[in-house]
Amino acid sequence: MRPTALRRSPVVSARPAVAAMPAYRPGRNAADLAREIGVPTAVKLASNELPFPPLPAVLAAIAATAAETTRYPDNGAAVLTRALADRYDVAPQQLALGCGAVTVCQQLTQAFVDPGTSIAFGWRSFEMYPLLAQVAGGRTQQVPLVPGTPGGTADTFDLTALAAAVDETTRLVFVCNPNNPTGTAVRRAELETFLDAVPADTLVVLDEAYREFVTDPGVPDGVELMRGRPNVAVLRTFSKAWGLAGLRVGYLIAEDPAVADAVRRTLVPFSVSSLAQAAAVAALASEDEVRERVAAVTTERTRLTAALRGRGIGVADSQANFVWLPLGERTVEVAAALEARAVITRPFPGEGLRVTVGSPAEDDVFLGALDDVLTSTAAGVAGA
Ligand SMILES: *Cc1c(COP(=O)(O)O)cnc(C)c1O
Repeated sequence: MRPTALRRSPVVSARPAVAAMPAYRPGRNAADLAREIGVPTAVKLASNELPFPPLPAVLAAIAATAAETTRYPDNGAAVLTRALADRYDVAPQQLALGCGAVTVCQQLTQAFVDPGTSIAFGWRSFEMYPLLAQVAGGRTQQVPLVPGTPGGTADTFDLTALAAAVDETTRLVFVCNPNNPTGTAVRRAELETFLDAVPADTLVVLDEAYREFVTDPGVPDGVELMRGRPNVAVLRTFSKAWGLAGLRVGYLIAEDPAVADAVRRTLVPFSVSSLAQAAAVAALASEDEVRERVAAVTTERTRLTAALRGRGIGVADSQANFVWLPLGERTVEVAAALEARAVITRPFPGEGLRVTVGSPAEDDVFLGALDDVLTSTAAGVAGA
């Protein structure tokens, strides 16, 4: 028995790398905000979700699978893996599924990044990348974006500098294309030159979470670019265009099956649920409807971009389902003022505001609130 006398008890402490992590700030929940400010509904344009209800086939698949949920899911996700292999014309061995693409990013880090090695990426980009390196005890090699022009292209990747930053410690490079949160995309020739320059033993992951929203034919499909390059892999997700954000399914397609195998080894067993697997299979089978929805979003993206430019805001062309408002130091103030008017956006303090392309009605609510904010704040137009 342990003595019960008072003594200095040791305190449980997390690993320094984890203790140093910034706390996760979840996006405001629309229902909570509406209740707080006393309005019937709030508009959430903060998480790049699709402004449509679930696909009918997805709802049917979930209902049909509900009866199987006393069992563990198929850990190998054989049916979904086969459907994806057919969809992308790759072998099942080239695929690795995860509980959302963010978890696949984490698996990639676990599979390839030892303490003291590095992950390279352009910055600003997806917030997960530096956190992953931190937890893994790796270093980050961050290369600033090339500044864009107001009304023209937004800040985008400097692939020449990124290739130069890669050294013998670099195990993983993330290229988010189109980039979250700027919406900009790099084009075929520059990406090919970059891939040619990266050493063959450094894995390049093309994070294409928003690929389905790309309308510029000059922006390459990573799965095509990957072919014949064993150190290249592509990350995709069912969360954005496919509308399954709440179900958590993402996947990696690797040219080299050994890369996919390494990622599969780090899967937390059974983390892709049977509901998620069935829903993803149903979504893939509904691709025509998905394409129609995506087309509606990209049409609305054009309208929203023009409306913002008409208000004097230097919004760049976006290839994703969000737009980037380079509001600089006014970002936090504008985001807070929008929230007070029941519109939730995603501020990046000191840099800009990311606003998801919603339905035309949601976007009109956003534009109305923005007009109100711009006229009621002293500085007037919030152009960068
Ligand atoms: C949303 C997003 C993902 C993946 O999201 P999951 O919901 O985890 O599949 C991956 N990369 C980027 C850049 C994203 O914006």
